[in-house]
Amino acid sequence: MATSSAISEGLLAKYEPVIGLEVHVQLLTASKIFCSCSTRFGDPPNTNVCPVCLGLPGALPVLNRKAVEFAVLAAMALECRINEVSIFARKNYFYPDLPKGYQISQYDKPLAEFGLIEIDLNEGESGRKKIGITRLHLEEDAGKSLHEGFADSAHKTAIDLNRTGVPLAEIVSEPDMRSPEEAYQYLTRLKEIILYTGVSDCNMEEGSLRCDANISVRRRGQKEFGVKTEVKNVNSFRFVKQALEYEIERHIEILESGGKITQESRLYNAHEGKTYGMRSKEQAHDYRYFPEPDLLPLVVDKKWQAAIRAGLPELPEARRQRMMREYGITAGDAHTLMLTRAMADQFEAAAREAKSPKRVANLVQSELLGRLKAQGLELEQSPISLAGVAASADLVESGAISGKMLKDLYDLCFERGQDFPAVYEAEGRPEQSRDTSALEKLADELIAANPKQVEQYRAGKKTMIGFFVGQIMKASKGQANPQLVNEVLTKKLEG
Ligand SMILES: [Zn+2]
Repeated sequence: MATSSAISEGLLAKYEPVIGLEVHVQLLTASKIFCSCSTRFGDPPNTNVCPVCLGLPGALPVLNRKAVEFAVLAAMALECRINEVSIFARKNYFYPDLPKGYQISQYDKPLAEFGLIEIDLNEGESGRKKIGITRLHLEEDAGKSLHEGFADSAHKTAIDLNRTGVPLAEIVSEPDMRSPEEAYQYLTRLKEIILYTGVSDCNMEEGSLRCDANISVRRRGQKEFGVKTEVKNVNSFRFVKQALEYEIERHIEILESGGKITQESRLYNAHEGKTYGMRSKEQAHDYRYFPEPDLLPLVVDKKWQAAIRAGLPELPEARRQRMMREYGITAGDAHTLMLTRAMADQFEAAAREAKSPKRVANLVQSELLGRLKAQGLELEQSPISLAGVAASADLVESGAISGKMLKDLYDLCFERGQDFPAVYEAEGRPEQSRDTSALEKLADELIAANPKQVEQYRAGKKTMIGFFVGQIMKASKGQANPQLVNEVLTKKLEG
């Protein structure tokens, strides 16, 4: 079981964790959801603001159509039902970075409902598990309180309202997850799906994907949920998992010692690996939701829905299955090649032209990604394109170059910052030797020096040829053409 080692198996046999997740995804629109201010990240504080997002009296919100289309596309990718009519509502609370004193969100009539994400089960269990998505709704982001990085920050907090009014899709799951590992998987799948739709960059460092986790435990067999706590704003999937492991353990300890769980919001301190209850004034208890009087109900009729659906790309799971089928690659290959949609697109374009797509997949993993990682480069910065990988794979496939030669050529590509075909040309289209005289001499020597192995081979143990091939490859420092070595040896040994 992939939960914290700190929780004893015995206690987990007695208690079952119940986890639900709320994920906020920033939609990649150029302008904010209710005004035309830019959503650009990293601009000087308070430069992308206007009377609307500052909440000045008399300013009226105007809904950004692109934000709606992005949210609908995400909802469709998550297999949600789109509600033709949804309602914006005011969520009232006081916080310094919320200039209006309320956030425009959606409450009892959200944009979309009843979706799902499939995850793999824990190790050792077969099949897949469906995690329900309760709802996906649109809302605006709040501003940001800055506690460091400016003069006087030891004594003061500053407010940056650039983020105020940036469009978000909030995606709320059902409490369907039963372990931190399942929560981790759900988040990984969710991010992958959203990335494929292209509606968000899901960049957690820049806050375009944020996660709150609800957790409770109950005695196994018990139907009612236990009292839950909410861990707010954890900024990596690994930390979500760790925070959940910590909370599960904390809940069980309290219950085992006869105590009661307090329903509250908590913050995770990644340095200490612990959660802490938030000061009660940071907890809003009653948001007093009511319909936003300045916005009409949002109507996404069937025609608009169909137009948006036409832009839905092939989704990760379907693509994974198809790529495995089409190119004869393994689930592991497909997983690596699909880390980003750009990589999957480039792989497919290259693989379609290649003699062996499987070899292209292997080279990407064994030769390309390692070199990129060593140099701290992203795929987009790779000197070797996937088309270049495919070209090199064909040369190995046809026996023109050896694996060792390929490695050397790749090293040159990275040194020179040039793609494979250019380096291959510049090096005078090198070919591995097809001259057998040197090989024959080596083979004769080997055969003379290893009579016992020769005898075994001739007595029918044909796999013994591997021993001789290995010796010759070693002697040639990997430069010999394995196919040729095989031919020469077979002839000698049979003779
Ligand atoms: Zn504005």
